[in-house]
Amino acid sequence: MEVLVKGAGVAGLAAAHELAARGLRVTVADPWRGGGRAAASWYAGGMLAPYCERESAEQPVVELGLRAADWWEAALPGCVLRNGTLVLAPVRDAKELDRFASRTTGFERVGEESIATLEPDLGARFRKGLFFATEAHLDPRHVLVSLAAKLAASGVSFETDLSQYDSTRFDWIIECIGRSTPDKAIRGVRGEMLLLRTSDVSLSRPVRLIHPRFPVYIVPRGDHTFMVGATMIESDATGPITARSMMELLNAAYGLHPAFGEAEIIETGTGVRPAYPDNLPRVVREGRTIAINGLYRHGFLLAPAMAQQAADMILDERNRTP
Ligand SMILES: Cc1cc2nc3c(=O)[nH]c(=O)nc-3n(C[C@H](O)[C@H](O)[C@H](O)COP(=O)(O)OP(=O)(O)OC[C@H]3O[C@@H](n4cnc5c(N)ncnc54)[C@H](O)[C@@H]3O)c2cc1C
Repeated sequence: MEVLVKGAGVAGLAAAHELAARGLRVTVADPWRGGGRAAASWYAGGMLAPYCERESAEQPVVELGLRAADWWEAALPGCVLRNGTLVLAPVRDAKELDRFASRTTGFERVGEESIATLEPDLGARFRKGLFFATEAHLDPRHVLVSLAAKLAASGVSFETDLSQYDSTRFDWIIECIGRSTPDKAIRGVRGEMLLLRTSDVSLSRPVRLIHPRFPVYIVPRGDHTFMVGATMIESDATGPITARSMMELLNAAYGLHPAFGEAEIIETGTGVRPAYPDNLPRVVREGRTIAINGLYRHGFLLAPAMAQQAADMILDERNRTP
């Protein structure tokens, strides 16, 4: 059975992996093989944080995301770091931390001493926080490139020239094209991010800062690099980061540790998250086409579960067919 996966963002590559692992012949078509600059996936933080996300997301995000870290680890051994998430608030925003706690589970409250043990560089700077010990993170770009390479090595074909394949020869099409979908129900939510480099700060895990306008976080990437994200703007605009967003993200980083003030800004980027009105993802079948979309803030967290649902649909149908 031959399957065409359109789109090589996180949804498409996860689907291709799941289908190939179940013995189907897979072709992936995307002008940007392995998650390129057009993909929201390229700009993601890579947090696998189902409990933290519950602060602003519905319960299915927790349930669908709980096994994501195991799925990624099985797909690409060694790619997942299971160091948890630390949520911090400046003293003036202590009430906001309580509000965050009231909307989430899976954490322990931590004080100055525990924060210093977890993240020695933040020690004396914060008095209260929440530690979500079972959460994880990964490097999205490493994962996208490595997964595409692994799939190619295991026999999955990649097509970057979209005029070169005949989609009618496939038994199934899995459409994972994010914001490029013609589905009118999908909207874009612009997310701006920065990459900073400094050897004066070390972090072992994503740190989220309570912020009045949008959830700000800093994710360590290794090689003294940190991803600072991310704005949440109801817009499809893919243009460069605005001065205001840049100031807010840099202020947050500086608020976490003043040494970020001396960091090099090595990249700024903008991704457009595809979202349904309820901000929950969907796997929608129409004939022999299955669309996976609406991953919103949770592409790396929810793509494994969506890929499994799509693969189940195809295999259930095959098993039913005499
Ligand atoms: C700043 C930012 C931070 C984020 N942080 C996190 C995070 O920490 N954790 C998390 O889980 N999620 C995070 N997300 C969300 C996550 O990035 C998205 O949910 C996810 O990338 C959506 O993946 P996708 O594959 O559906 O779409 P995309 O990544 O946009 O991929 C779509 C692909 O389809 C291709 N395409 C388009 N049209 C066609 C066509 N006609 N034929 C073939 N291919 C086509 C495009 O080239 C692209 O490669 C973040 C997003 C942003 C912007």
